[in-house]
Amino acid sequence: MEIGFIGLGKMGFPMARRLIEAGHQLTVFDTRKEAVDQLVALGAKAASSPRDIADRCENVLASLPSLQASLEVATGAGGVIDGSRVKRFVDLSTVGSQMATRIHGLLAKKNIVQIDSPVSGGVGGAEKGTLAVMVSGPKPDFAILKPALDVIGRVFFIGEKPGSAQTMKLANNFLSATAMVATSEAVVMGVKSGLDPAVMIDVINAGSGLNTASRDKFPKSVLPRSFDFGFATGLMVKDVRLALDEMKSLGLSMEVAEAVGRLWEVIIRDEGAESDFTAAIKPIEKAAGVIVGGAKGGSTGK
Ligand code: NAD
Repeated sequence: MEIGFIGLGKMGFPMARRLIEAGHQLTVFDTRKEAVDQLVALGAKAASSPRDIADRCENVLASLPSLQASLEVATGAGGVIDGSRVKRFVDLSTVGSQMATRIHGLLAKKNIVQIDSPVSGGVGGAEKGTLAVMVSGPKPDFAILKPALDVIGRVFFIGEKPGSAQTMKLANNFLSATAMVATSEAVVMGVKSGLDPAVMIDVINAGSGLNTASRDKFPKSVLPRSFDFGFATGLMVKDVRLALDEMKSLGLSMEVAEAVGRLWEVIIRDEGAESDFTAAIKPIEKAAGVIVGGAKGGSTGK
């Protein structure tokens, strides 16, 4: 299949590479030329703008870092909306249901079908093709795209209502964000009282506390203090804020989400949007006066 791909970052690059390896013809664009060059070396064609891609391909996929970037790429000047060939715009980014619905409405005026397809499973999942791929949009268009989406992960059809896959994704990422900070608090509590954090993580992973932070993030990026899991704090906070907006727009006030949201605002303030989201533990350590992991396991600071 001929596929346009816009946004070749931590997630987009490995997804695009897998599509090339599976035999699809890719035309790619990113504002970072080096990312485009690397994919051209793997067999992709380079495009000069989102519109250029949409002039050349019926199916355009995008993996972008902000709501504004998705809106501009899809509907701005020189965007996908002005393309002569495009029939479908598939947004793999997390933008929330309100922005997805807005983009859907604008593209519909030009007879371009917008499909939500947010993904979960991190950079490792994008490289291995094991992402959870959540799709909402018209079923006939979904059927056309499914063979390509199968290459990037396990595909779930959520519904035809625009934005519904985004709501699904926000529910998932609210849990991921909660697991990260709740596990940090549990381990910091243990280290404060003298427990070995590596032993704690082994026990949690053998017990009922098991979650994605204890299973994946702590062993790979927190205990070794490499803080390099591959998901930026700014993106996690975007998703937490979107989840809170989604709850409010449904007339819901949710206690855990409110507390988790407040904590992530502290994390982005202290660690910065560019930090890896596994650095979430640092303000919690600081408040407790301990350091978790590293060469010595855990230590109580001054
Ligand atoms: P990233 O910042 O690594 O990549 C975004 C890419 O988009 C960059 O290469 C950037 O140059 C490019 N870009 C930005 N604006 C552009 C524009 N106007 N035109 C063309 N290219 C543009 O982000 P990421 O981590 O790959 O995340 C992308 C999306 O996937 C986000 O919505 C994120 O929430 C979601 N997501 C990320 C992960 C993860 O683990 N990183 C997991 C699931 C979902």
